[in-house]
Amino acid sequence: MARLFGTNGVRGVVNEFMDGQLALDVGKAVGTFMKGRVAIGCDSRTSADMVKSACAAGLMTAGAEVLDLGLLPTPALQFFVKNGHLSGGVMITASHNPPEFNGIKAIDSDGTEMPREKELAIEAFYFQKEFSRPDWKQIGSSTRTTGAIASYQKAVLANVERKVIRAAGLKVVLDCANGAGSVCTPQILEELGVRTITLNCNPLGTFPGHPSEPTEEHLKDLIAMVKQTGADLGIAHDGDADRTIFIDDKGRFVYGDRSLAVVAGAMVVENGGGVVVTPVSTSLCVEEVVKRSGGEVVYTRVGAPIVARKMIEIDALFGGEENGGLIFPKHQYCRDAAMTAAKMIEILAIEGSMSSLLAKVPDYCLDKRKLACPDLAKEDVLKAVCEAFAEQRVDTTDGVKVYFEGGWTLIRPSGTEPIFRIYSEGKTEQKAHEIADRCEKVVREILGSISK
Ligand code: MG
Repeated sequence: MARLFGTNGVRGVVNEFMDGQLALDVGKAVGTFMKGRVAIGCDSRTSADMVKSACAAGLMTAGAEVLDLGLLPTPALQFFVKNGHLSGGVMITASHNPPEFNGIKAIDSDGTEMPREKELAIEAFYFQKEFSRPDWKQIGSSTRTTGAIASYQKAVLANVERKVIRAAGLKVVLDCANGAGSVCTPQILEELGVRTITLNCNPLGTFPGHPSEPTEEHLKDLIAMVKQTGADLGIAHDGDADRTIFIDDKGRFVYGDRSLAVVAGAMVVENGGGVVVTPVSTSLCVEEVVKRSGGEVVYTRVGAPIVARKMIEIDALFGGEENGGLIFPKHQYCRDAAMTAAKMIEILAIEGSMSSLLAKVPDYCLDKRKLACPDLAKEDVLKAVCEAFAEQRVDTTDGVKVYFEGGWTLIRPSGTEPIFRIYSEGKTEQKAHEIADRCEKVVREILGSISK
């Protein structure tokens, strides 16, 4: 069967793939699956009202009671679903994609992103057009619901040491990329007593400040502002505010796995040990910091919902992805940008400057490349790669990860393209390239022998 949900829900360009009809039908399918009370919310995109209205109409058609939360961060909607004991939620967002995109993401009743087996059930309703069609007395209604942001903000504030933060007198620059974080994070920082300079913190769906993916290239203004104002920290959210990327007090862009390492280390020390969950693609710097702090790392396949579910299964202390999506189980089992920002501020207030914390995180260099491979051959190639590296430590959690002295290579089949993604990490750039070259050569030889 064809797939409807990608890695991050249903996404596409508005009025091309993502039109009113699609949103209506997805709403019907989700409503047929969820029944009961369903929350709906959106980010700041220009198409938010159109996609949300169509999707809500679909949910009501199937008999769901819709609670319309309006504009809010994805984790705030997830928090509302979990605490309101709802049947589930729907977030209208395309996260970090360009402004012409929009998307629909389904949230499970426990506030986590929908697991694949439940998405399959929703997809079956969608593709077979098997929607609930209750009679006129059971049609759902929609209620504008306020208070979701306030209760989420309260929960974030309750999870950090407010007095310690207030006493530290920190100054930060916050960049919400004109996205959903704009209506939430500035108030949290104010409540924490942090002097905050805001940048792109007015929600605007054309994303006039910069594209909503928090890359170094897109955060030039934030970097300049941190330097100019002598701020202790720069904080950047993606469009739906489930991820946070930082700029240190020297104005340097901080890669997501390095900030993940800082928070993971602090969490482990604070709790006297614990398990940190992260995908196999994460830098070794996280494992090194966690081990040094007295904790251990458990690896999963790539994908935030997979990390979150593993954390629930093994009662992990903390988890996250290298893209700035950090998960704090005491708060909730999903990536949470405002919680990440608040926790990092607490860590700075207790331990010292961001640059001094980063100085304790080991440096690694990453080499990313792609290699064409027909989809049908992928499985055989991976098997042969395992055999070729039988002498090394090999992890097959997701693709094949081969460990070498001072580094590793991950060979992962793309789920959407006929390619392998080859990620290699080493202590130096040269080491990363060497490892990558060695693995690429092996994969090419295997591909050559298969095609003969
Ligand atoms: Mg996002």
